[in-house]
Amino acid sequence: MTVFADLVGQDDAVETLSRAAAAAARIVAGDTGAQGAMTHAWIFTGPPGSGRSVAARAFAAALQCERDGVGCGECHGCHTALGGTHADIRYVVPEGLSIGVNEMRALVLRAGTAPSGGRWQAVVIEDADRLTEAAGNALLKAVEEPPPRTVFLLCTPSTHPDDISVTIRSRCRVVPLRQPSAEAVAEVLVRRDGIAPDVASWAAAASQGHVGRAKRLARDTDARSRREAVLTVPRRLTGVGACFDAASALIEAAEAEAAAAFAETDAAERAALEQALGAGGTGRGATGAMRGAAGQLKDLEKRQKSRFTRSQRDALDRALVDLAGFYRDVLITSLRAPVEVVHTDTAAQSSAAAGKWSPESTLRRLEAILACREAIEQNVKPKIAVEAMMLNLWRG
Ligand SMILES: [Zn+2]
Repeated sequence: MTVFADLVGQDDAVETLSRAAAAAARIVAGDTGAQGAMTHAWIFTGPPGSGRSVAARAFAAALQCERDGVGCGECHGCHTALGGTHADIRYVVPEGLSIGVNEMRALVLRAGTAPSGGRWQAVVIEDADRLTEAAGNALLKAVEEPPPRTVFLLCTPSTHPDDISVTIRSRCRVVPLRQPSAEAVAEVLVRRDGIAPDVASWAAAASQGHVGRAKRLARDTDARSRREAVLTVPRRLTGVGACFDAASALIEAAEAEAAAAFAETDAAERAALEQALGAGGTGRGATGAMRGAAGQLKDLEKRQKSRFTRSQRDALDRALVDLAGFYRDVLITSLRAPVEVVHTDTAAQSSAAAGKWSPESTLRRLEAILACREAIEQNVKPKIAVEAMMLNLWRG
C-alpha cells in the first residue's frame, strides 16, 4: 500500500503528486536537472471530505520516502510521516475560526531551517482559508522566497480570493480534487476500515462523497441518530410555529454536539493550566502568580470558545448538507434524473414530496438551504439564518 492509498477516486492528483515526489527525490540525490519538476508551494482544493488534507499529508510522506520518493508506505520515512511523528513535517490544524499571525510567524521561522533528515521540510496548513490577513502576509513572504528544501502544502475549499489571497495563489501549484463517487468511498470503507459492504454502500451514498463523514455514519450510532433527526425536518414543517420549533431544535442539536465533543478536553486543559500556574498554593509568591494566571486563563477560555463556535458551525453545516440531500432527492425524482438518491432511507418521503411540489418550488427550497449556509459562513447569527431557511422550506 503506497502513501496515496487512502486518496479515494483521485487518480489525476495521485499521478501529479507521484511525479513531483520522484523529482524531489532526484533533487535530494543531487540531480540539478530535476529542479524544474518540483514546486515549493502547493494548494489542494476540493469539496469538504474529498481528501484535501489526506492528499497533502500523503505528499508530505512521499517527500520523506527513502525509496526514490515513490511513497512506498513501508520505509521509516513513510511510516513516521504517516504516523504524524516525522521531525521535518509540521502541521497547522486550526481549532478555532482563524489562524493567527503569531502562529504563522513561528511556523515560517522554523520552516526556514534545513530539514533534519536531509530531505525536505514540509509544512501542511489545513483550512488555509482561515488564515487572517496578517498571517497570510507572513506566509506569503516565505512562499515568495522559499528556503531551498522547504515545501508549503495548503488546503482550501477553492482558489477563490475569499479562500486564499490572489498573491499566494499565484505562487502555488494547484491540485484540484474531485468529489469521489459513492462506489469509491464504499470501497475504501470496506478495505481500510473493515466495514460490511452493505453498510459501507449506504453510508457512502448518505455522506455524499465525504469519506470521513461516511466512516462516522457507518461506525457511530450517535451520528446516525443525529442524521435521522435532521431528516424528519421536512415533514415537521406544518406551520410558522413548527418552523421556529424546528430551527431551535437544529441549533440546539448542533450546540449539544459541539459541547459533547470538547467537554472533556476543555476541563482537562483548564486543570492542566491551573496546576502549571500553581493554583491552590499559599504565600506571597502564589498570590503574584495567580494575578498573572488570570490573563492566561482568559486566553485559554477565548481559545476554547473559538473552538466551540467552529465545532458548532461545522455540526450545523453537516445537518444542512444532509437536509439539502433530501431536497436534491426530491428534485431528481421529479425530474426523473438518472442518478441515485442520496438518502435511500427517506426515498419514500422524497418521492411523495416530488408528487406534491413543482420542481421550481423544490429548487427554491434547495436554494434556501444554500443561502443559509452562506449566511452563517458570513457570520449571520445561526438562529436567524436557520429560522429564515425553515420558513422558506415550508412555503416553498
Ligand atoms: Zn517509503
